[in-house]
Amino acid sequence: MMLIIKQGLLLRLFFTSVIAFVSFLGDLGLHYGKTEIIRAISDNLTHAIVGGATWALILVLFKKSVIENIENVIICFFMSSFIDIDHFIAASSWDINDATHLRHRPFLHCTTIPIFLWGLMSFLYKITHASKWITYGTMILASFLSHHVRDGNRRGLWFWPFGSTQPIPYYLYIAICILLPYTLQLLMSWQLSKDNDTISSINVV
Ligand SMILES: [Zn+2]
Repeated sequence: MMLIIKQGLLLRLFFTSVIAFVSFLGDLGLHYGKTEIIRAISDNLTHAIVGGATWALILVLFKKSVIENIENVIICFFMSSFIDIDHFIAASSWDINDATHLRHRPFLHCTTIPIFLWGLMSFLYKITHASKWITYGTMILASFLSHHVRDGNRRGLWFWPFGSTQPIPYYLYIAICILLPYTLQLLMSWQLSKDNDTISSINVV
């Protein structure tokens, strides 16, 4: 029993540190990367690892096995990375210089989108009582918010049609990325526990 508690604590510490250190390393890569392509790859890989680690930490907080649920960690890894495809779509070009020098922020960087999708999936959960909708909605939030907050250090958060925030100060952005999985896990347990019948199906996580 003691060993399980200790293991849980170590895993929390491990994934929390991964989120903090990988973000920090990725920011160094953005500053010191020699070419545009190296900076873009390092930045994108950072988003992917932070997105995957965010979901892994949520699993640990739910006392679920990361290995047994690795497919959802991998989905969050790729979803966080995939968001930047919109740079190329908006530029209508596969040239990295066009993609990184857009005049407007591309559409997948609008934070209203993941919030809307989460709301939609929470609604689907309400009518179907299938907890997979809560899982999908939270996976979208974990992937998009970790990506948007990290980009937000340079450009702020964009809530179309309401406008954008100021850039997020450096240590605040790191703190939000660290707190994000803890907050999402609380949100998810609250949503699932409101419906007593489905408590047992939290296993779906
Ligand atoms: Zn981005």
